[in-house]
Amino acid sequence: MNCNHTSITKKQITKSVGSKIFKTEALVCNDCNALRWDGEIQGKFDKWLTSLPRDSFTVQEVKLPTNIVEFIEQKSIEFSGKKNRSAMVRAMISIWCNFVDRNNELADAVEREYDLKKSILAQNIYRENVRLSPKFYMQVRAQAELSEMSMQEFIVACVERISIAIMNEGEVKFYDIKNRLSDIVAAA
Ligand SMILES: [Zn+2]
Repeated sequence: MNCNHTSITKKQITKSVGSKIFKTEALVCNDCNALRWDGEIQGKFDKWLTSLPRDSFTVQEVKLPTNIVEFIEQKSIEFSGKKNRSAMVRAMISIWCNFVDRNNELADAVEREYDLKKSILAQNIYRENVRLSPKFYMQVRAQAELSEMSMQEFIVACVERISIAIMNEGEVKFYDIKNRLSDIVAAA
């Protein structure tokens, strides 16, 4: 049913992001409950997001195969001189979202590599809590929704694929991924 939103009232609205709740007043249609999310509200929302502590959003219980966790720890030592699992996980998600996923040819190559080698993934899992900045959390949530996955599933998919891509040192086509990862983690 189409609604022309002819009858609107200013109401208190809330939007939850992880465990945090954004509250503001917005114009809401009395007939269909649609709310007008305009530039002013977006501005308030962005301000609210940036006011939160830097790593205030945690994605709980991300189920990673134990051998991938070991691999990530090893690589973080190789890249930065210290064991930094969470920096590696964040960097892998970021590289997936901002680099691999935007390059069809590379994304296809990563997917083929994953299909070939996914049998190496351990059945044992380690439950990792992944802390993200507010802005990054929103990006990961949106990308997960686009892929019709939970945030947990999406993060597992990113981490498993990037790990498998860089596991074989001889794969020239994945050097770019490895170099980016190394740069991000070294700077973390
Ligand atoms: Zn309406």
